[in-house]
Amino acid sequence: MIVRTRFAPSPTGFLHIGGARTALFSWAFAKKHGGTFILRIEDTDVARSTPEAVQAILDGMQWLGLDYDEGPFYQMQRMDRYKEVIRKMLQEGSAYYCYCSKEELDALRENQMQQGLKPRYDGRWRPEEGKTLPEPPQDIPPVIRFKNPKDGHVSWNDLVKGEISIANQELDDLIIARADGTPTYNFCVVVDDWEMGITQVIRGDDHVNNTPRQINMLKALGATIPQYAHLSMILGGDGQKLSKRHGAVSVMQYDEDGYLPEAVLNYLARLGWSHGDDEIFSKQQFCEWFDLDHITPSAAQFNTDKLNWLNAHYIKQASPETLAREMKKRLAKLHVAVSAQPDLFAVIDLYKERANTLNELAASIAYFYQKPVIDQAAAEKHLTADIKPVIAKLADLLGAVDWQAEAIHHAINEVVTQYQLKFPKVAMPLRVMLTGIAQSPSIDQVMALLGRDEVLTRINQA
Ligand code: GLU
Repeated sequence: MIVRTRFAPSPTGFLHIGGARTALFSWAFAKKHGGTFILRIEDTDVARSTPEAVQAILDGMQWLGLDYDEGPFYQMQRMDRYKEVIRKMLQEGSAYYCYCSKEELDALRENQMQQGLKPRYDGRWRPEEGKTLPEPPQDIPPVIRFKNPKDGHVSWNDLVKGEISIANQELDDLIIARADGTPTYNFCVVVDDWEMGITQVIRGDDHVNNTPRQINMLKALGATIPQYAHLSMILGGDGQKLSKRHGAVSVMQYDEDGYLPEAVLNYLARLGWSHGDDEIFSKQQFCEWFDLDHITPSAAQFNTDKLNWLNAHYIKQASPETLAREMKKRLAKLHVAVSAQPDLFAVIDLYKERANTLNELAASIAYFYQKPVIDQAAAEKHLTADIKPVIAKLADLLGAVDWQAEAIHHAINEVVTQYQLKFPKVAMPLRVMLTGIAQSPSIDQVMALLGRDEVLTRINQA
């Protein structure tokens, strides 16, 4: 069997984390089996679909590097085909016109509820052998319903949730075309999964209730039934439905917030799927390992600390060029222009082990390219009157040393010894004066990169 999977988002908003994980799993499954991954935009909800949302989905997938082999297909461009299939079903008797007015259906529902029954269509326009149907009213444009089997069960072995079986009696005759002739959501999915030859439908478990209906329609069309894998929800760290208050939910917001796509991808891969104790793996490794057997049926919880940990790892691993490009872009957003000196690559090297996000990294190195913003509390604590002569002495020495980290360190040591102080007693005020805050990598290295003139200027100004 040649594997064909699809990601079928409805373009009603940005590509969110849950959608991205669905796309990733479908993509990886196809890659692993040398199959085809299809992107299908389910844009039939015209009131809620927007071109901006389509673009956001395309951008998100591109950022994550989830390339598709076929598509994007747009359902709105396939309307004629859906209508053709509906005509065929009408001819073959697996679909029928229903002329119930809204009032009639409301009354039916009301009645059933009063009797404590589950509201459902009662099949009054369903053709049956030996049954005489009412005369079609002239003034009511009919909808078209699928003739769902009445007896038996519809069952499938869900690749995540296991065996699922639903009695056909539970399913009423679904509307597949509205009164204006437009096909409905569940029907378009069926025609597409069939015609696109989808072998594994991997999607969120909010669609698990649609599956028995879709299987019945596929059967009526004589289609091969794909396998289904319904992925559990992603919850926020507090166990609640993932929402904006948990931080970013849009994939592109992670870019905005300073996450590398490799980190987000690696994080999503582990969200509900596992490969032993492995936490860090490349995209390629993931494709080789990925299977549907190790997906947890229970909901996965989002954990920002873990994402940060992975991001820190990928920042350390990133190529100097990638980091330099990201830093220029992100510093520009902070209105900081990177000049030729201090050397950006060296600056990044000094700091990249310390950052969880690219934005943190950019913020922490900004002082190399603009005057530092001195933290008031740090200044009060470390820039004390007693330290002034020590720093003045150091400044003297610095005027003459060979401008290398080692020699600078030596000069600091000299005043430390002369004034009988501990090293931090001098290093801390230097940090505050030069970087604005009391934490930095080794201060002599910071000074070496800043350059003698800049160091002396900042000391004088402070
Ligand atoms: N368009 C649906 C959604 O965005 C997905 C349908 C499917 O995967 O079958 O939720």
